[in-house]
Amino acid sequence: MEKNYPLHLLNTWRIGGPAETVYWPETTKDLAIVWQRALKAEIPVWLIGRGSNLLLPDEGLPGIVLVTSSLRAIQWGDHTVQVEAGYMLARLAQEAGERGWSGLEFARGIPGSVGGAIVMNAGAHGSEVASQIMSVTALWADGTVKKLERAELEFAYRFCSLRGQAWVLEVQFNFSPGDRKQILSQMTENLTKRKANQPLEKPNAGSIFRNPPGDSAGRLIEAVGWKGRSVGGAQVSDKHANFIVNTGNAKSRDVLALMDAIQEAVQLKFGVTLQPEVEYLQK
Ligand SMILES: Cc1cc2nc3c(=O)[nH]c(=O)nc-3n(C[C@H](O)[C@H](O)[C@H](O)COP(=O)(O)OP(=O)(O)OC[C@H]3O[C@@H](n4cnc5c(N)ncnc54)[C@H](O)[C@@H]3O)c2cc1C
Repeated sequence: MEKNYPLHLLNTWRIGGPAETVYWPETTKDLAIVWQRALKAEIPVWLIGRGSNLLLPDEGLPGIVLVTSSLRAIQWGDHTVQVEAGYMLARLAQEAGERGWSGLEFARGIPGSVGGAIVMNAGAHGSEVASQIMSVTALWADGTVKKLERAELEFAYRFCSLRGQAWVLEVQFNFSPGDRKQILSQMTENLTKRKANQPLEKPNAGSIFRNPPGDSAGRLIEAVGWKGRSVGGAQVSDKHANFIVNTGNAKSRDVLALMDAIQEAVQLKFGVTLQPEVEYLQK
């Protein structure tokens, strides 16, 4: 447990002030116990996976921030895997691919945890996590732990019915038998495309806005002239307009100001309300 821990160390944007307390549970039971105690004591609790879809506030966060990165137990079955929420999705994809198991090729370049990927229904290249899930074990707000089968969960574009309702502890995925060489080369190709199109050399949080139906947020942002523009240390990437990069000392207020300006410009020119994909955690 750490007190006054800098939040900027807990997210890919490298932004955020001090957290009152940060705790890295070693087991899912441990996480549930801390949650139940905090609930009783009315202490606010925040959950972070790999922080790759989060904007964390300059003012910091009160209460307890729980980070799932130590929850990494994994058990491989026959074209199935049972894995804890803190495991890296991209690593899981790579390890499944090396076994010649197909299904998560799209996920090789997504830098989040398994738990974060479930609640975001992370996806790319026309595929999404939802299609590989068998079951999810989660902790509900009242402190109960339940295992839900795939049919009991709802998924849509970057949406899962568990989001904001429960914390994912463990997930069971299934795979199809495939050709190892082909799977690995598909993943390499996906990574190469990302390197070419995304500003991976600077801290960022992936896509800022959801793509509106039938369109792309990047295209709209470029069309209103915001590509490459900055507020403070936050800059709309000149490689991909739906990414905001931290050029060194970005603050959350810089990112929020950029997002507001973009939303206003796109609304004015196209009548489209861009919806954020990144989540802003604030007290
Ligand atoms: C370079 C880059 C590329 C990216 N590319 C893609 C992409 O192609 N496709 C895509 O979908 N996303 C992409 N992302 C966004 C991000 O990686 C995904 O949304 C990822 O699933 C987030 O996982 P995380 O562990 O980082 O979640 P966090 O950012 O830590 O958290 C996001 C939300 O999930 C919640 N959460 C985290 N863990 C759990 C849990 N165990 N149970 C319940 N809630 C939880 C948090 O409380 C928060 O509300 C990209 C990000 C970056 C930086």
